[in-house]
Amino acid sequence: MVGDEIMSTDRLWHNVEKVLVSRDEIALRVASLAGEIAAVYDGRELTILPVLTGSLIFTSDLIRRLPLPMRIDLISISSYPDGTLESSSPKFNLPIPADLSGRDILIVDDILDSGRTLASLAAALERRKPASVRSCVLLRKLVAGRKPLAGADFVGFDVPDEFVVGYGLDFKHLYRNLPDICVLKAHAKGGAS
Ligand code: 5GP
Ligand code: MG
Repeated sequence: MVGDEIMSTDRLWHNVEKVLVSRDEIALRVASLAGEIAAVYDGRELTILPVLTGSLIFTSDLIRRLPLPMRIDLISISSYPDGTLESSSPKFNLPIPADLSGRDILIVDDILDSGRTLASLAAALERRKPASVRSCVLLRKLVAGRKPLAGADFVGFDVPDEFVVGYGLDFKHLYRNLPDICVLKAHAKGGAS
C-alpha cells in the first residue's frame, strides 16, 4: 500500500544527516572503476572475493559492469574496530575458499580505513599461492597524518573521516538498503537507531 511505503521510507531516512555520495555518482564511478579493472586483467579469468556483508551491493553492481570471465567466492571476516595490531588477527567466519592456487584474485571490500582487515586477508590469501592478489574498495577514508596499513589497487571514492552508512554499509546492522552513501545524525549514533 502507498501509505506503508511512505512510512517505511520515512523510517529509513529520518536519522540521515546528509548524503555524502549519491546513487548517481556511485553508478558513474562503478562503471569507470569496472573499466579500470578490465584494462588491468586484459580478458583473464578473475576470482572475485567479496568481503561480506558491507560489499554486497557494491560487488553486485561492479561485477555486472565487468566483461570478464569470473568466479565468485565469499569471504566473511570480523574486523576488530579498536583492537591493537597484536589483537587484530581477523576472525574468518567462513572458511577461506580452497583451490586459489594460480588464480587472479580480486578482493572487493567496502571501506579501507586502517587497512588492517585488508592486510590480514591479503596475507592469508598469499599463503594459498595465487597468481595475483589485488583489492578494490568502494571507499577509502582519508585521515590526516595517517597512512593505511595496506593500500588498495582500485578505489571508488576518497571520503573524509566520517562514519558512513548505506549502499551496503551498516550501523548496528541497519541502513544497508539506503541507495546512497550517507552520514547519520549524531543522535542516531549515540543511542538506539
Ligand atoms: P580497517 O580498514 O580499519 O581494517 O576496517 C575497515 C572496516 O571497518 C570496513 O570494512 C568496515 O566494515 C568498517 N568501517 C570502517 N569505517 C566505517 C564506516 O564509516 N562505516 C561503516 N559502516 N563501516 C566502517
Ligand atoms: Mg568490512
